[in-house]
Amino acid sequence: MIDAATRLYCVFGNPARHSKGPVIHNAAFKNKGINAVYLAFEVQHAAGAVQAVRTLDIRGASVTIPFKESIMEHLDWIDPTARAIGAVNTIVNEDGVLKGYNTDCQAAVAPLIPFGVSGKVVCIVGAGGAARAVAHGIAAQDGDIIITNRTEQKGQALAEAVNARFIPAGEMASIRADVVINTTSIGMTPKVDEISFPPEALIPEMVVMDVVYTPLRTRLLETAEQKGCTTIDGLSMFIAQAAAQFELWTGTAPDTDLMRSTILTTD
Ligand code: NAP
Repeated sequence: MIDAATRLYCVFGNPARHSKGPVIHNAAFKNKGINAVYLAFEVQHAAGAVQAVRTLDIRGASVTIPFKESIMEHLDWIDPTARAIGAVNTIVNEDGVLKGYNTDCQAAVAPLIPFGVSGKVVCIVGAGGAARAVAHGIAAQDGDIIITNRTEQKGQALAEAVNARFIPAGEMASIRADVVINTTSIGMTPKVDEISFPPEALIPEMVVMDVVYTPLRTRLLETAEQKGCTTIDGLSMFIAQAAAQFELWTGTAPDTDLMRSTILTTD
């Protein structure tokens, strides 16, 4: 029941109306018997969003495109990992002190841990915000990283930051990797026929992961599956980053199976 004691959580983004955050966090609050509600706010400015957190005593917030970088200067403290990545996707309001974290980083690595990351050649396609979180997560697990990206300068800068090799996008077909992770928006609805990695470079021994989760089976994952690769969909990372947020906010781990089934059964 929503009453005067209900605690408020939210996501800030633009757009934000498509967010699956409200569906899974509200299901998790209900499941854990926590008197809280999570809403989506489509905002214009990071500064105004942070002021709203302070004014309304919003207890925690997810931060999404395009505010993950610009929100940082308005917070009181930034976790060292988020600082290294250069992006915050989670705000925790600790008695008025606003702390910034990046849960995308650990979430990107979590689904790969069962396959082993240390010493494996991991090709990251892309060099945007998601790529930075993924690359720092893989670097922390001692993966041998290759970065490839359409804009070479951005790709080279990320490669330098995580001590990785850079291979230009035009030479992607020559890449030999144990793990391939698409961190670009290629393949996302509505351009579902696009693929970010050359099919001819996919081999059965590879683990192929996509951060895109609309659709769940991207062209990359479909093609990789046909080639006999092991595949990991973008929902795995999405749920892992949301679960880490929930734990930072409440001190309790949510039921991630419930989060996944809630998304899959909600339009
Ligand atoms: P971003 O910072 O804008 O970066 C976009 C990346 O995609 C850049 O590397 C860009 O290359 C590349 N790219 C975009 N369109 C391209 C095209 N047509 N051809 C070649 N490269 C292209 O975006 P982001 O925040 O990293 O988000 C990327 C995707 O990750 C989005 O689909 C987002 O929804 C998803 N995501 C998922 C999760 C999850 O939990 N599953 C978490 C975060 C993000 P250039 O550098 O050349 O522009």
